[in-house]
Amino acid sequence: MAEVRDLYTFDDLKNWSGATGDLDRPARLSVFGDPVKHSRSPQMHNPALEAAGIDCEYVRLHIQPDELAEALSLLKENDFIGTNVTIPHKGGVHDAVDEMTEVARRIGAVNTVAVDGDQLLGHNTDAPGLKKAIREEFSMDLSDLRIMIVGAGGGAGKAAAVQCAMDHCERLVLVNRTVEKAEALAEELHDLVIDPDKLEGPADRLVAIPWESEAMEREMENVDLIINATSVGMKRTDPEVVPASLIEPHHLVYDMVYAPARTRLIADAEEAGAKAANGLSMLLWQGVLAFEFWFDSAAPAEAMRKGLSESLG
Ligand code: NAP
Repeated sequence: MAEVRDLYTFDDLKNWSGATGDLDRPARLSVFGDPVKHSRSPQMHNPALEAAGIDCEYVRLHIQPDELAEALSLLKENDFIGTNVTIPHKGGVHDAVDEMTEVARRIGAVNTVAVDGDQLLGHNTDAPGLKKAIREEFSMDLSDLRIMIVGAGGGAGKAAAVQCAMDHCERLVLVNRTVEKAEALAEELHDLVIDPDKLEGPADRLVAIPWESEAMEREMENVDLIINATSVGMKRTDPEVVPASLIEPHHLVYDMVYAPARTRLIADAEEAGAKAANGLSMLLWQGVLAFEFWFDSAAPAEAMRKGLSESLG
């Protein structure tokens, strides 16, 4: 039997039985990305497949943008169950699938594809994964919270904002360095956020502001949950996502970044007496929901959590 490789390529996919035919278990699930070597999805999904008794291997596939369309059709030819999709393909796959869930359509991005005969079905599990993560970390639902999303101009920020809006959160503050992107998103989400059954509060229900301390300071007293959806915090030299002096003990702080585990934002929040959590739980729950999308049955979430924790050391 051959060993599973860290990485497979488009050329391998074109000759899939030659590249993977000797594996112990047939490789029928994958993650597409460019780059993709960093992806921890195999360490999360393979223990789940084993725990569920499913005879299938999950592998990384390095697919470049100009290879995407053909790679998706090769999934069907090679009897794949589906694939996850990471940078930079979430938008491209959205345009290529035959059907998609409402949340994927609203976000305009797909991170999970299921093969159903000759059809490709798309879903975005980042958004409901965040919802589950907030429930797990803080025992709160998005619908009950006034939420600030920093990085609302990126893919993860939009996924978060759409989920908050679909859940009719109490209030949504969209923050972005390029404020025009946050403004455009606010316009898109306006009708979703405004639930006629919810009373108007003292502050506007939906606002877009620039990533500047003064603008953020004005919103802070009317915010419960702060979400970092930027990549700021991955490097030690990164600036503050939110000025430490603005974080209060009543805030909940969720940092989508999970490496390092204790980002500057999390350290600042804890020092201010606020509850804080990193993005590992979102990574886990988006994986759990992808598994359930493929197999239409409950995922072994604890096996996935263990696999993920071990992969991060
Ligand atoms: P992206 O599409 O590149 O978005 C980047 C966002 O961050 C934009 O809003 C951008 O603002 C902002 N940004 C980037 N660098 C900045 C800086 N130096 N100062 C201020 N703002 C900055 O990336 P993404 O795919 O949305 O991912 C964002 C983060 O979420 C990454 O760290 C990613 O690893 C994480 N993530 C985590 C999970 C999870 O499961 N935990 C899932 C998805 C993503 P502009 O619009 O002004 O450029």
